[in-house]
This record gives sequence, C-alpha cells and structure tokens, in this order.
Amino acid sequence: STDLIETEAVIVGAGPVGLFQVFELGLLEIKAHVIDSLPVVGGQCVELYPDKPIYDIPAVPVCTGQELTDNLLKQIEPFGPTFHLNQEVVEVTPQEDGRFELVTSLGTRFLTKTIFIAAGVGSFQPRTIKVDGIEQFENKQLFYRVKNPDLFAGKNLVIVGGGDSALDWTLNFVGKAESVILIHRRDGFKAAPASVAKMKELCEQYEMQFEVGQITGFEQNGEQLSHIKLTGADGVTRRLPLDMLLVFFGLSPKLGPIADWGLDIERKQLVVDTEKFATNIPGIYAVGDINTYPGKKKLILSGFHEAALAAFAAKEYMYPDKKVHLQYTTTSPKLHKVLGVE
Ligand code: FAD
Repeated sequence: STDLIETEAVIVGAGPVGLFQVFELGLLEIKAHVIDSLPVVGGQCVELYPDKPIYDIPAVPVCTGQELTDNLLKQIEPFGPTFHLNQEVVEVTPQEDGRFELVTSLGTRFLTKTIFIAAGVGSFQPRTIKVDGIEQFENKQLFYRVKNPDLFAGKNLVIVGGGDSALDWTLNFVGKAESVILIHRRDGFKAAPASVAKMKELCEQYEMQFEVGQITGFEQNGEQLSHIKLTGADGVTRRLPLDMLLVFFGLSPKLGPIADWGLDIERKQLVVDTEKFATNIPGIYAVGDINTYPGKKKLILSGFHEAALAAFAAKEYMYPDKKVHLQYTTTSPKLHKVLGVE
C-alpha cells in the first residue's frame, strides 16, 4: 500500500525485544507498528531455535524459543500492535517537523515521531549459491524460496541443501514435478529424520534422485540455464540438465540498510547511552542485540530492561511538559485500564 501511516512509534524488528518494546510503550499509552523482514514474529528465537529450551528468562524456569514468542504475543495483546511482516525497512528520512519517514521494501510508508530499532543481528536473508554468473538466473530459474509452487509443477528440478527446507520441498515436489534431484554436499542432513527416511525411500523407488556433491558451474543455452555442473565427492564433474534450481542454504542476517541511516555504528552495532538507549539521532532508540554500550551482554533479559528505559525516554521526548510517573502494574488503576484488567 502507498498510504501513509501516521503513528507515534515504529518498531523495526519483531524479535523478543521488539515484541516486549510494544508492551513497555503500551503501558505508557504509546501505540506501535512493528515491522519485520521475516514472515513470522519471534526473531532469532523462532528462526534459529524454536524448539530449544531457554533457561534464563527471569521467573520462567524453562521455555522454548517458540513458547517465549507465543507468551510475548499474548502479553502485548491488550495493546493491539499492528504487524507489517515480510518487509524490510529500507529507508529512514528525517522530516522538517522532527518526525521520520520510514519506507519498507513493500512500499509501506510511515510518518512516525519515534523509531525503536530492535533489529537483532540484522535482517535475515537467504544465503546465496557461490557460482560465478549464476545470479543472472535469479527469480527466473534460480530460486531461494518458493512463493508459488505451481511454477515448479511439471519441471525438471534440482534442489540443493541439507536442512528442513530442502527436504520438505523435495518431498513436496516429488510427483508434481517432472523430475526431482536433491543435491547435498554430504550424505548427512540437518533435517527431521522422518523426512530423510522418506526421501531415501523415494530414491529406492526411483521417484527421485539424491546426489552427494557441489554445484561448481553451469551451462546456458542463450538466456536459459540448461545444465548445472555437479562435482561429486570423488572429484568427478558431471553435467545435469534442469529447468529450475532451488537453493536452500539457510538464512543469514545482514545489517543491511540500517547502516545507511546516519546512525553511529561500532562493529555493526548501534551505539547507545545506557540511560535512554538513544542513538545519536534524537527520536531513534536501539534495543536488544543490535545495540552496543560498555558492558553490553547479548541476552534477552538485557533487551527487556533496555526496552523499558527506552519507552520512558521516548515518552519524555514526545511530551517534554508531561511528568511521567513510575507506576506498578500490580496496583495502578490507570495501568489496569490500559491493560484491560479492571
Ligand atoms: P532478534 O531476535 O535478532 O530479532 C530481530 C528481528 O529484526 C529479526 O526478526 C529480523 O528479521 C528483524 N530485522 C532486522 N533488520 C530489519 C529491517 N531492516 N527491517 C525489518 N526487520 C528487520 N538469549 C538468552 O537470553 N538466553 C538463551 O538461552 C539464548 N539462547 C540462544 C540460542 C541460540 C541458538 C541463539 C542463536 C541465540 C540465543 N540467545 C539466547 C540470544 C537471543 O536469541 C538474542 O539475544 C535475542 O533473540 C535478541 O533479540 P532481538 O529482539 O534483539 O533480536
């Protein structure tokens, strides 16, 4: 949408710290829009370790990355944040009136008084295949994600990778594609054992092929990618004809456009003070793994504390004449009202 969304606060990043930032702003009656480049919320907790247990969240003896995220979502429900997923914040431009214009990769535009950068280790991007010149086929015959499965039906597919995405899509396309060849650099997978077993069974039934090796080159026919060159563990290179190449090498985080917004950066992190967690640009705060200050520890609990202080600082920044009192959620009728627990 090209409509302009006017708001008091935009949070860049829906990891655990961005989600808790919604809560801390909400208590101070500041509504927030949250943007994330991933299709789901939860940041590293969901992208990297959804089923792994976390033991150091205060008063939560153990919970998984997914459970932490689900609980944070439940906790911020009263504040009705608006999520804008699948889009990266690409531009931040200061306006004459002190606000910021913020534009995402999908063209969503915001006019906001404050920005909370909770971008963690950066925005997750698919790792690309390193073969000289192969990028010319991207989004035509080379894909890093499947948006529209119909595109691959009836085609000769080569799928590369050894994780769950590679295995899941392999199993999905057998029977729908004309042929499926899975390639991985070794005969060991970082995927659900049941998927691996199913894949091997399909190979025995000649429904698909699995090859150990690496793609080291390609051949083209005019503009078309016609063959890939597969170098096996024995060092022998073979040519494989194909229509489509699907690569699943996982996601790697990139600081990306944040580096271009005029913020002070030290070793890929945003420099903040420890009173307000403010960056060098008034109105822009940085919380969680993305920030740095003396003694910084990249822990979720540190991010939660930072989010609380940043929210108070932002309230004061937006309403310099209003005194902001600290109130307890236990006893404050006002906070009960905003939490909807009267
Ligand atoms: P992230 O979780 O990194 O979330 C940032 C989000 O911002 C991402 O979703 C990203 O897509 C998005 N983003 C970035 N740039 C943009 C952009 N330009 N536009 C839109 N979106 C953007 N910590 C603990 O305290 N205890 C533990 O036990 C623990 N275990 C861990 C185990 C593993 C395997 C790993 C990898 C980490 C662990 N951590 C643990 C660290 C913890 O996960 C991080 O400290 C935490 O996720 C940081 O949260 P965050 O919200 O700051 O950032």
